[in-house]
Amino acid sequence: MIRVVHHPAYVTEAPARSTYRWGKNGAIRDLLLERGAAVAWHEPAAMPRDWLEATHDPDYVAEVLAAAVPREKERRIGFPVTEVVARRAALVPGGTYLAARLALAHGFAANTAGGSHHALATTGAGYCVFNDLAVAAIRLAAERAAERILIVDVDVHQGDGTAALTAGHAGIATYSIHAEKNFPVRKACSTLDVALPDAVGDDEYLARLEETLVPLLDEARPDLILYQGGVDPYAGDRLGRLALSDAGLARRDRLVAGLALARGVPLASTVGGGYGDDVMAIAARHVAVIERLAAVYGGAESLASAGAGTDDLDASLSSVIPDPARDTPSRESGGFDVRGTLDPRSRPG
Ligand SMILES: [Zn+2]
Repeated sequence: MIRVVHHPAYVTEAPARSTYRWGKNGAIRDLLLERGAAVAWHEPAAMPRDWLEATHDPDYVAEVLAAAVPREKERRIGFPVTEVVARRAALVPGGTYLAARLALAHGFAANTAGGSHHALATTGAGYCVFNDLAVAAIRLAAERAAERILIVDVDVHQGDGTAALTAGHAGIATYSIHAEKNFPVRKACSTLDVALPDAVGDDEYLARLEETLVPLLDEARPDLILYQGGVDPYAGDRLGRLALSDAGLARRDRLVAGLALARGVPLASTVGGGYGDDVMAIAARHVAVIERLAAVYGGAESLASAGAGTDDLDASLSSVIPDPARDTPSRESGGFDVRGTLDPRSRPG
């Protein structure tokens, strides 16, 4: 049983002037629907405004929710923040939060969107509007759902926004392993950053991951891990600079999940970066991450601390199987991907 958090509004058509290839969320949903009863679907509520404001600047939250983001910030984000985009932006942090709550109750859960790790206090950036990882972590910490939260970010781009937004929070630590010469040009300070040179392959990547993450886990002793499982370290990724194979990505996910499970730590995953012309292939890569993590946690239901504090979530814990025909059409490939302005080094996610 894989607990998957998804909302129909994750699947949106791209606004005009978007440099981001929309549609992979619909493809992820469709691939997971093929798993039938192996997947339990959960629909999140939008993150309440107060919690968005606990992480982001209230003026920026107001700009997004009113779909009135200044053009300069929209350029930095990579697409205009329309009403549809604004609604989605509030739902995705709700999804990461719900996935975390489900993970705390059951060991593992996945959000089919999120990983918006470049969003900063006063602006979005790099295809990220609100930082779902930081918003969820700050809310979970405030609610004492977890005492020590570790955000493990394996996207090929540094989790700069997450690091900046959670800096100074005693209960939240951040780890980012990324390509040093990739976006963002100016890096933030995570609790632990592992900057890799271009073209690092599977073996070197896995060695660096293990030798850095193990000591951090033992020092931070998290009771919850939020995993930004970007698939853009893949060798063929348009915006990556590393050279991992599919087998390398698999080893990466199994290593992190195995280390977490061995320490009894629940893990909630989000997607993240993954760029190229073949949306289905990228979606399949995201789904593979979810399935691998779930497989490691399979049978670990007893990990849950008796589901403490989740009673109020019963409504959202009930399953709602998505109906693609009812969802906003996703138009998986072509049509709205305006790639003319895509600069590999200035528009990642
Ligand atoms: Zn990325």
